[in-house]
Amino acid sequence: MGDPVVLIYDEQCAAYAASGHPERPQRVLSSAARLREQTKISFEWHAPRLAPREAILRAHRLAHHDAVATQKHAFDEDTPSHEGIYHHALRAAGGAMDAMTHATGGKKAFSLLRPPGHHATPERAMGFCYFNSMGIAVLEAVHQKGLRVAVFDFDVHHGNGTEEMLLGCPETLFVSVHQSPCYPGTGLVHHPPNARNYPIRPHTKAKDHRKALLRALEDVHAFQPDLVGVSAGFDAYRLDPLAQASLEVEDYLWIGEQVALLPCPAFAILEGGYSEDLGQLVEAFLLGWSISTGEHMDPQGSNLQPTMKTR
Ligand SMILES: [Zn+2]
Repeated sequence: MGDPVVLIYDEQCAAYAASGHPERPQRVLSSAARLREQTKISFEWHAPRLAPREAILRAHRLAHHDAVATQKHAFDEDTPSHEGIYHHALRAAGGAMDAMTHATGGKKAFSLLRPPGHHATPERAMGFCYFNSMGIAVLEAVHQKGLRVAVFDFDVHHGNGTEEMLLGCPETLFVSVHQSPCYPGTGLVHHPPNARNYPIRPHTKAKDHRKALLRALEDVHAFQPDLVGVSAGFDAYRLDPLAQASLEVEDYLWIGEQVALLPCPAFAILEGGYSEDLGQLVEAFLLGWSISTGEHMDPQGSNLQPTMKTR
């Protein structure tokens, strides 16, 4: 049994749905059930808080905040305006912030909530995403804790919203491995000074996909962050209905092991992943992360010293 993992979850996040939509409640319900049943990983279950308004407004324009709070019509054809979506999006962002806080305390923390966030830009909901939970948590860590933070996004889709939110913020690095061509069509090249993109072709073999992930992780290591936020999407799985990547269950275990080898504490949040096997993939990732003993993991978190001044 490896280190206990803080698992941030609230089944209220399953309380919205659109008929036929792939981003469905069963994603988190079945994943949570599977994690409860398994015995290889020990979890500390925590309920998330709602993200405070000031944290949202650090990442998003006021007009976008207000649109998520009040808009009654769909944001785009993928992104309906559900009853109560404002609270669901605040909860997912709060879960990311809580995971970030647990990580700065030296724990491994994973937020298993929906909606996902990495496509939401400072001013727009899109691609099943309303508030950008990762961007919100990262900017909180930068501005409230004075940390240098890298984002490692392994969702099969480019995290365009997170990239746009962090671009030009010198205390942050965004790195992404994603399929191209694929939604949303961005992330084809690196965007200086602080966004590194590694697009891969559809049907890329898993071993070559791993090579791209390792190149991205080299960038993370070179940045020498105090903290890493992992946008954990599981839709690069071979059987995922929304893309044409080739990763298998064991590849997600391997990704978890790579996260454990990062030079600093990390937190992770659920982004995409639409196959029936999502729970198995999440479990494999968390198992790989929890059983690998990263030398950097100081249980007291005393190795986590701010290196950058708050802007
Ligand atoms: Zn995705």
